[in-house]
Amino acid sequence: MRAAGSGTNGKRLGCDLLLSEVIVRVLPFSRPGNIALPFFHLQGDGFWHLLPKHENISLGSQITSLVRLREEVVGARLGEEVYDCVRTREDRDRLRSVLIDTYFSPETRRFVLEQSAINRGAFVYSEELLSHPEDPTVRETLSVEEAHRPAVRDHGFRRAVVTAYSHRCALCGIRVRTLAGHTAVTAAHIIPWSETQDDRPVNGMALCRMCHWTFDEGLIGVSQVYEVITSRQLNSYDNLPSYLTNLEGRSIVGPSKEQFWPDTESLRWHQENVLLTR
Ligand SMILES: [Zn+2]
Repeated sequence: MRAAGSGTNGKRLGCDLLLSEVIVRVLPFSRPGNIALPFFHLQGDGFWHLLPKHENISLGSQITSLVRLREEVVGARLGEEVYDCVRTREDRDRLRSVLIDTYFSPETRRFVLEQSAINRGAFVYSEELLSHPEDPTVRETLSVEEAHRPAVRDHGFRRAVVTAYSHRCALCGIRVRTLAGHTAVTAAHIIPWSETQDDRPVNGMALCRMCHWTFDEGLIGVSQVYEVITSRQLNSYDNLPSYLTNLEGRSIVGPSKEQFWPDTESLRWHQENVLLTR
């Protein structure tokens, strides 16, 4: 779901705002956040124009769920006056400060600003990782406060790897992405971050939760010719789902772009240091 300027080129406003994460941090714990409500109701303020997905079908009187919003709305167009206020980075920062100072209590302003800095930092970091998938020095470009570095790194690495694999598990191949945008895969480091601080996308694979766990536990590995290796220990369990035990010798489901395929040296390290040989 995106907001675009009113110009005919539909220019985007910088990075996507992960507003749902902001909502989670500023609402009371007992109240679940729902980004669909402000996205829909902002249209009443005159500067926010929803763009229906189907041109000749008008939107319902009320859209209250993200699922319905995604089904019926392409995005939103900003009115000309507001768009003029957010054309440059400086203007956006100024508008953000005014909105936060006006509408948030002093106690919550800090959380909103923190999460905003993390989201922007993570987006920039992930774009750098995707642009230089084999450059080990990219992490040095992180220009965020020390306290935010772990979260920015974590979010940025996850976004880069999951994007490179188009949300598909490299081992079992499942790909599930809900209308709310939740994905079945996470980003796994092949050589753990704690060993080499290596966030290159080629030191990662998108894996579903089960495959991620078995990979980290050394029950599954990947050969240098990108075939799945299963340990004998994996095959000794009776209650594993059959799709896991049938993976031996199968090719992984790699990224569509060759430049993001796993680094064979990282895979060798995993075989020698993590994969269980018994
Ligand atoms: Zn999987």
